[in-house]
Amino acid sequence: MSFPAGGIHLDPAADLDGFERVVLDVDGTVLLGNRALPGAREFVEAFRSNGSTVCFATNASFATGETVARRLRAAGVPAEDHLVLTAIEVLAEYLRPQPGRTGPGSRAIAVLGSDPAFEILERSGLVVTRTRDREPEEPVTDLVVAGMSHDVSDIEVEKAAAALAREVKVTVPNLDVGMVSSSGVLPGSATILARLARLAPGVLDVTDVGKPSTVFADAVDRVAPCRGRTLVVGDSLTSDIPLGADRSWESMLVLTGTTDLIGLAGIEGEPPDMVSPDLPTAMRRGWRRG
Ligand SMILES: [Mg+2]
Repeated sequence: MSFPAGGIHLDPAADLDGFERVVLDVDGTVLLGNRALPGAREFVEAFRSNGSTVCFATNASFATGETVARRLRAAGVPAEDHLVLTAIEVLAEYLRPQPGRTGPGSRAIAVLGSDPAFEILERSGLVVTRTRDREPEEPVTDLVVAGMSHDVSDIEVEKAAAALAREVKVTVPNLDVGMVSSSGVLPGSATILARLARLAPGVLDVTDVGKPSTVFADAVDRVAPCRGRTLVVGDSLTSDIPLGADRSWESMLVLTGTTDLIGLAGIEGEPPDMVSPDLPTAMRRGWRRG
């Protein structure tokens, strides 16, 4: 990453009031565990009173938008159910058979992951089985890997690997190594996938539909269509900041989650358009008060 001479600028750019849509990451950006981070409610309210649409986007593989919206509201952050997107629901929508798109169709999709992820996929109408329940004579060709790694044992991963066909289409809700929680960073789906890849007998063709994929950006455009400017706010340089960069969405990195100043200085890639230590600072310095 290259920054302008003079080093890293912690002040966001001057103007936050021209955005028609704001896409907020959840964990490490507005919530830490089940508590709101300082300024989260005020940040959302300020954009809403400015007439912007505020939606939330999380790479969570174990929760529905409704559940996350409830979690946000319980912490005092205003959120509407239909404007909260979770990666596991984006994945369910992506795998749903649709005219003109090739996919597993009526074949059962095997799931290696947590119980909540499996239940969300099942409720969404997909034909799913758990890898541990598969008969050995039907090799897995379509697989979803979803969940926190502590929900999946090494033995389960070994069994899943043994059931794989030579070529497997794998869909994942994120490739995040970790997720910020109130008790620290928890290992994510990428950890399970890494274990599986080591044991897999053939080729795993992996599609990540979480942030910052175009599949996820399309889902944002579906629930909150926008012709004007979009601002993405998040704590992750890998999943939040690049979201929608190909469609000119702008970005603000906050340092309240997975990224600290050292991480910010060391990473390769496109820098965020703005950086703020936290939401209150962004509010104070980034708003033109008329
Ligand atoms: Mg985050």
